[in-house]
Amino acid sequence: MIFLQSHNELRNLGQKQVKFCPFCKQNQNHSIWLQYRLTTFNLIMNFASDVKYHLACSNCRNGVRLKNQEIEKYFKEKFKTHPVPFSHRYGGIIVLIVLSLLVVAIFANKAYKFLPDW
Ligand SMILES: [Zn+2]
Repeated sequence: MIFLQSHNELRNLGQKQVKFCPFCKQNQNHSIWLQYRLTTFNLIMNFASDVKYHLACSNCRNGVRLKNQEIEKYFKEKFKTHPVPFSHRYGGIIVLIVLSLLVVAIFANKAYKFLPDW
């Protein structure tokens, strides 16, 4: 049975700053928000796509989109990590590698049994 789920992830990355909000018409706290689409295959393989960053007002949630490269570079320099969790970025690839190695190991084991005795 194949399970394929897909949903939007939304995370507040913090980094608050006070800016003027044109919707609230006053100074408000603004935070960096991370939004991405997470597709999960059979509950173990994760693929993150459509990654976006926004600087949004904490009161009304309106804001502007930020450039991905700048935010990811900023987080890498300041926190030495990527805002998107590792398992969400590379989870699917790691599972595929592990399954491939398992299949290779099984076939290598079966091939070894059919070799003639020396
Ligand atoms: Zn606002």
